[in-house]
Amino acid sequence: MFANLAERLQDTFKKLRGKGRLTESDVTEALREVRLALLEADVNFKVVKDFIAKIKERVVGQELLASLNPAQHVIKIVHDELSLLMGGSNSKINLAPKPPTVVMMVGLNGAGKTTTSAKLANLLRKQGRRPLLVAADVYRPAAVKQLQVLGGQLNIPVFTLNDSKAPVAIGRAAADSAVQNGQDLVIIDTAGRQEVNEELMAELVNMNEAIAPHEILLVIDAMTGQAAVNVAEAFNSRLDLDGVVLTKLDGDTRGGAALSVRAVTGKPIKFAGVGEKLDALEPFYPDRMAERILGMGDMLTLIEKAQENFDAEQMVQMQKKIRSLEFTLDDFLDQLSQVKKLGPLEQILGMIPGLGGAKKLKDLQVDEKELVYVEAIIHSMTADERREPERVLNGSRKKRIARGSGTSVQEVNRLLKQFDQTKKMMKQFMDMEKNLKKGGKMS
Ligand code: GDP
Repeated sequence: MFANLAERLQDTFKKLRGKGRLTESDVTEALREVRLALLEADVNFKVVKDFIAKIKERVVGQELLASLNPAQHVIKIVHDELSLLMGGSNSKINLAPKPPTVVMMVGLNGAGKTTTSAKLANLLRKQGRRPLLVAADVYRPAAVKQLQVLGGQLNIPVFTLNDSKAPVAIGRAAADSAVQNGQDLVIIDTAGRQEVNEELMAELVNMNEAIAPHEILLVIDAMTGQAAVNVAEAFNSRLDLDGVVLTKLDGDTRGGAALSVRAVTGKPIKFAGVGEKLDALEPFYPDRMAERILGMGDMLTLIEKAQENFDAEQMVQMQKKIRSLEFTLDDFLDQLSQVKKLGPLEQILGMIPGLGGAKKLKDLQVDEKELVYVEAIIHSMTADERREPERVLNGSRKKRIARGSGTSVQEVNRLLKQFDQTKKMMKQFMDMEKNLKKGGKMS
């Protein structure tokens, strides 16, 4: 996510950090680089101009040299402004005073509207809502089928009217059905088009007037950069959106849409799609996103994810083991399977402060297939070997393990290295957690 932008900004600030004190020309040079990085990230040029002007004003207005660490100070200002650019704080969806809350999902074909409807139902169900998905994309029978399949996977009901081609009628009937069945959240997947056109807008305006949803969410594809921002502007001018869902952030190395859409439309990004799986939708937190971009990591999202997915008792056990340095290869295997539940490892590691630059993490990447080998290797070890591999394992034992697991000594060594790195990382993690508890800074 935003890898290119993050790398450039982090390089810029690394140079600043290296200096004991900052002159005005150091700051000017750094801001020039920030400006270029943002333009290259496809951020709207006017947004960039205002952004840099604001930072300049704050930096120059501050008695920079008086602060203990001027570079850190500049980074903090950039962080704050980046966060403000994306809306400052998390915006939630509007809930109806009297249920059900009706959410209308709009957007162009391919942006991820149908998938996001299902993901949103899944996410809000975890927060205690009882969702009903509504298939109102009347032009594409495949879209109705798609929503039914997704609903089926999630065990969330999907409302359809087979004989109706009128989205308004479908929406109304769905809301009635929700009342009858005690569902308090109605998510309507509307029809899109290949591009913004009058027919689509007229249809959505009509539906908005007839159904009066509590929330209109526009789904846009982050990977299309400024084009997505233009789409948002067009929809917003006709529909008065409540918020935006930015999909495919997992594949967005630049970040232009994420950084411009709020400033251009005035509408907040409420959720971000970060993968194809049905749990890959996150509430959008501008401050945390700014931290990720600047390589400060995103411990809060990581901790929340961990709390959602980890077995609490197991976590406590694991922490104890790590603290007492009794973390063994068995635990490592356990942990890999747990971490896998959180999502792609690379994404997870990007949230850890200091590990944002994922380049150096090649050795730590684990894919599904690899996990099978890891498992085979660990299962080919004796209990002693698993407990203290550093002490016990020699060349001939490694050969035996490689044979037993159908791998090579090289692969055994690689696993041991991963294990070692993980232990180190866990320790770092613990230290960081301690600092967090003390109310210290995250970076
Ligand atoms: P619609 O035409 O707007 O309803 O789009 P779909 O919901 O059918 O999604 C189009 C494609 O985008 C599908 O292959 C989805 O799996 C994919 N997609 C949607 N959201 C995300 C996301 O956040 N990340 C990734 N990687 N893919 C996504």
